[in-house]
Amino acid sequence: MTEFDFDLFVIGAGSGGVRCARMAAAAGAKVAIAEERYLGGTCVNVGCVPKKLFVYAAHYHEDFSDAAGFGWDPGDVQFQWSRLRDNKDREISRLNGVYRNLLEGRGVRIFEGRARLADPHSVEVLGQRFSARHVLVATGAWPYVPDFPGREHVVTSNEMFHLEHLPRRAVVVGGGYIAVEFAGILNGLGVQTTLAYRGTQLLRAFDADLGAALATEMPQKGIALRLQADVERLDKQADGSLLLRFSDGHEESTDLVLYATGRRPYSHGIGLEECGVALQADGAVVVDAFYRSSVPSIHALGDVIGGPELTPLALAQGMALVSTLFKGEPRSVPLENIPTAVFSQPSIGTVGLSEEEARAKHPRVLIYKSGFRAMKNTLSGNPERTLMKLVVDADTDRVLGVHMLGPDAGEIIQGLAVALQAGATKSVFDATLGIHPTAAEEFVTMREPVG
Ligand code: NDP
Repeated sequence: MTEFDFDLFVIGAGSGGVRCARMAAAAGAKVAIAEERYLGGTCVNVGCVPKKLFVYAAHYHEDFSDAAGFGWDPGDVQFQWSRLRDNKDREISRLNGVYRNLLEGRGVRIFEGRARLADPHSVEVLGQRFSARHVLVATGAWPYVPDFPGREHVVTSNEMFHLEHLPRRAVVVGGGYIAVEFAGILNGLGVQTTLAYRGTQLLRAFDADLGAALATEMPQKGIALRLQADVERLDKQADGSLLLRFSDGHEESTDLVLYATGRRPYSHGIGLEECGVALQADGAVVVDAFYRSSVPSIHALGDVIGGPELTPLALAQGMALVSTLFKGEPRSVPLENIPTAVFSQPSIGTVGLSEEEARAKHPRVLIYKSGFRAMKNTLSGNPERTLMKLVVDADTDRVLGVHMLGPDAGEIIQGLAVALQAGATKSVFDATLGIHPTAAEEFVTMREPVG
């Protein structure tokens, strides 16, 4: 018998929190979970899932024009934003229900309200106070918008999923995941779109060739790309439009400004500081290798601890914590070889080290690269090009990184991530037969290093 109301009290029912709660309950723990907003968190409600649905929607635009070269005449094509948004909402409601059933099916008690730590073993929610042997903070992250005159007129990814009307024109500010994904979505849905990024290289954290290739493709699809563009101020005009002023003097009139300038850990106002939990300057909860904070009964994982903000990582961390707390097998999730995809148009998939990272860590690196027009584009006339790249350690023959820009990049890289996880060498890639005709076969037929 526990002397606590719960063995585990989870604050935040996003990807990491829900997975941990479910698995802990399955391991026999008495578990509660509190959520102030929506079951499933950012990923299910205002992130990965609805974003991917919007990416599918946006891509039809290109599919219709590609179809002509294959003999189809799709005719006068119309798009209705409200239908897409409402169908998406229905699907998300269904998923919210799935999450509820998964939790309740395991006997997890759900509290729909904002929870707060009262002390290292107590959580207050909906006017009640519960004791818990362990508390897990899995509150995720929240969009960050820098301070500048007119910031109150911008929207973030949170709002993009519920727009009443699709704007005629939009400016997306940022050069990371969300910025390039939403620029592609808006452009595909027929919005006159500008992407404004303060630097010179999109997706700066990725292999530089990917950002460069994307910067070539985006304008071909109709996106106006403005690099080294620093926003100075934003003013609402009498007609309701927005006027963006950049520090180089350029001005752009638009109807919607989306800021996609990173996210910050959502850690304030839930009693962490009062309990003595150490936070980093950006609010990230400081944890050890086993997701334990500076207060031993309080744990944290997922976006709230900083690091790669990716659903599969939070899920893995949630399961590792269950193993540590309830199965007597302390586990941690390594941060190497995390595969990831950016659902830009064209999409990007990547796993392992970029060329730049590999050169910094290994004395001799070989690069294999292939750029080509995918077979489908021979008839469609679409100028889009695919890029594939392998980064190899010349001393051990180990493949250190695999990078792709092109259709289905995420699907292709997921499979190659298994090869990297297994420590595959370039010789193993060479010994693998291709599947013909596919784009992916290029990954096993590149023979001549380019650098
Ligand atoms: P990212 O960290 O990917 O990109 C942030 C961008 O904003 C960078 O280009 C950065 O520029 C720029 N930026 C930061 N601060 C400022 C500023 N003050 N003024 C102007 N520009 C600024 O963050 P996102 O918001 O795009 O996404 C957040 C996270 O969510 C991602 O890192 C990712 O982990 C996750 N995510 C994952 C997705 C997926 O798996 N497909 C999809 C969407 C999000 P600079 O490069 O110069 O620093």
